[in-house]
Amino acid sequence: MLESYNRHVEDIRDLEYPMLQDTVYLDHAGTTIPAKSLMERFSADMISNLYANPHSASSASQDTSKRVEDARLRLLHLFNADPEEFDVVFVANATAGIKLVMEAFRDYETGFWYGYHRDSHTSLVGLREVAREQRCFGSDSEVEEWLQTTHKEAGSRLFAYPAQSNMNGRRLPLHWCQQICQLPSTYSLLDAAALVSTSPFDLSNVSASPDFTVMSLYKIFGFPDLGALIVKKSADHVFQSRKYFGGGTVDMVVCLKEQWHARKSDTLHEQLEDGTLPIHSIMALHSALDVHQELYGSLDRISSHCAFLAERLYSRLAALRHANGQNVCEMYKDPSSDYNIKATHGPIVAMNIRNAHGGWVANSEVEKLASIRHVQLRTGGLCNPGGTASSLDLEPWEMERNFSAGHRCGNENDIMHGKPTGIIRLSLGAMTTLRDVDSFLDFMEEYFVENELDKVVKAASTQPNIDGGYYVESLTVYPIKSCAGYKIPPQVAWYIHQEGLAWDREWCLIRPGSGAALSQKRYPRMALIRPSIDLDKGILRVEFADATAGIDPINLPLSRNPSLFTSKHDFTERNTRVCGDTITARTYPSPAITNFFTRALGVACQLVRFPANRCVGSSRHTKAHLQPFQQRKGTYYMPGTFPNEGKLETLVLRPILFSNESPILLISRSSLNRLNEQIKSNGGKAVHAEVFRANIVVAEYHKSTPAFEQPYAEDFWQGLQIGNQVFQILGGCQRCQMVCIDQETAQKHMEPFSTLAKTRRFEGRVYFGQHTCHVNKDEESLDAQGPTIMVTDAVKPLLDN
Ligand SMILES: *Cc1c(COP(=O)(O)O)cnc(C)c1O
Repeated sequence: MLESYNRHVEDIRDLEYPMLQDTVYLDHAGTTIPAKSLMERFSADMISNLYANPHSASSASQDTSKRVEDARLRLLHLFNADPEEFDVVFVANATAGIKLVMEAFRDYETGFWYGYHRDSHTSLVGLREVAREQRCFGSDSEVEEWLQTTHKEAGSRLFAYPAQSNMNGRRLPLHWCQQICQLPSTYSLLDAAALVSTSPFDLSNVSASPDFTVMSLYKIFGFPDLGALIVKKSADHVFQSRKYFGGGTVDMVVCLKEQWHARKSDTLHEQLEDGTLPIHSIMALHSALDVHQELYGSLDRISSHCAFLAERLYSRLAALRHANGQNVCEMYKDPSSDYNIKATHGPIVAMNIRNAHGGWVANSEVEKLASIRHVQLRTGGLCNPGGTASSLDLEPWEMERNFSAGHRCGNENDIMHGKPTGIIRLSLGAMTTLRDVDSFLDFMEEYFVENELDKVVKAASTQPNIDGGYYVESLTVYPIKSCAGYKIPPQVAWYIHQEGLAWDREWCLIRPGSGAALSQKRYPRMALIRPSIDLDKGILRVEFADATAGIDPINLPLSRNPSLFTSKHDFTERNTRVCGDTITARTYPSPAITNFFTRALGVACQLVRFPANRCVGSSRHTKAHLQPFQQRKGTYYMPGTFPNEGKLETLVLRPILFSNESPILLISRSSLNRLNEQIKSNGGKAVHAEVFRANIVVAEYHKSTPAFEQPYAEDFWQGLQIGNQVFQILGGCQRCQMVCIDQETAQKHMEPFSTLAKTRRFEGRVYFGQHTCHVNKDEESLDAQGPTIMVTDAVKPLLDN
């Protein structure tokens, strides 16, 4: 039975969900996906029918009103709710429904008591802020106990809980609503948003039903973006104390000399739906209900299908073992609930991943791999503060400490003090197939299960022999952060400044408004923006490499004082955020410049130039770990470009401009050759050095075959000498899926990140290349005053002995 239904879903999947092709979509608890037929039916409805604002009296308006009322009845029918006993209030989403209930209680003269379950979504937790008294229930038994006791809390009480946890899919007892019905002046608010997406929900027994039920309809159908608040009519009076009224919810308003209004009194939804209804979304609900029924039969069948798949996903993940017998997954499931018993569990799996040594794999690393393999999942706090904290065993003081240390929902500090700060959530939906589940299990096997056979190569296992010697194969700077590199021509001695190579990442593109820096990770076409530096003419030339776009190149003066060249480039200053730091940068208001970048990327953006001397005090300095001898004050002559032409600068800190983490990034040709061999042996295509966006590529002399090379020898270097200049190695460079963008075509591939994740992962993070910084010489030679390096310079590794 289940197998045949799954085959049915597999059959409709390709036809109805072309957007899910080549994707393993496991974020249905975020939103499910609308079927093609739904969008087509809605579109046909909009094209062939005239809908008008139902507040008018026209015939189109009357028809619209009728269809709106039909939609209400159909939604009630879906949940077996008698329209005599229940009313539907259309809202934007579940949260908006919760806020309507909150407003009613907030406006009680005497205030109210609020209780909520630990597993509540953030949107339910927020309601506590307006309560006179509040209590968070830490477990089901605390709730059971409270239901049995005589209540001392005075006045009205509201108890809220989720029908299903959006974090781990546990379903909570629905019979609590019935018990609450029997308590004096106590109301129940059930958050059914997660439950109804894959489960039937039955309101046929009025006395056992919640007073208020909220849900998000896009989580059931994928579309429309609409929510519903279903109110039991016996609890109508709660809204009488609500003070606000708006267009649509009053019959008459008197303003000037007297202040008076008459509320609508016919139905509850008329009193609560302020403003014009989202009529087109409500119309779409008809198409959604029809198509859903045609494709899936019933919520009951969806529920069985999802339970079958979730059980398989859960039990196979729980059974994954590393070669040494250690568990791969830490599962966050309540022992009392069971995927096979629908009343206790929905199709969500919550977990974290451990390596073979028992350490945690960072969720940010899981996200990166998921991204290159087109697996869509959710990680982090999952909008479920109580559930996450109790699963991860995080105490309030630990959360405060993490918050103070910079942890925020969705950032990269995902393992702190040996505990993960977030969770991986896999959630299934009506159109999930066995193929999706098995593809995800394959993904886990491929990247996270450490088998003895394909042992992770941690590093070159022996100390390298440094006799061979190296040279500089190429030098590259990236004048505009995240855009294409500019290869420094051979025979040109290139200046090194305290911030890195001259002209490296002095410019950056930002989003207007937010000021956030643009990155290739999100905008791969930045690779096609090709800056080049013409020192003779003193210009930065920028071309867009997609000839079909027909965008003419632009030229900018290199000088810091652009008024010398043209009055058009007057700067304005603004704040921008780069890698979490606020930096004051200067924007170019010239429309020609803004147009060039905006047309190239197809998003509004602005070019800014970054003044190095402003960055003093930024936390970015602390990322480069300098030795005390390098931190002394000294006099430093900086000829050429930056920050002030020909002026004496005092070296105190080492500003890092827009480059990520450290001034100069180095990779080794031998390491790249090794990596490419590994990629090719798995049937992949070798990658170019450019994908790593290094400043310096070093290669070994006189190596007739790769067999004699020393891949990853640079892991052992303490520093290196290039020509006459000394550089210190600061540490390995942590990689993300951005290395998968072909810098020639801007196309995204799976490699090299896929192979790197299998061969170069240390403590859950993937490394390739080394961060370095230039070490100033304590002397007054020309080499010290104007340090330069050049392609073909000899490179001598420095080892700590
Ligand atoms: C999704 C969800 C919400 C929030 O829904 P919105 O549509 O974002 O308002 C609230 N509670 C649960 C249990 C959910 O799954």
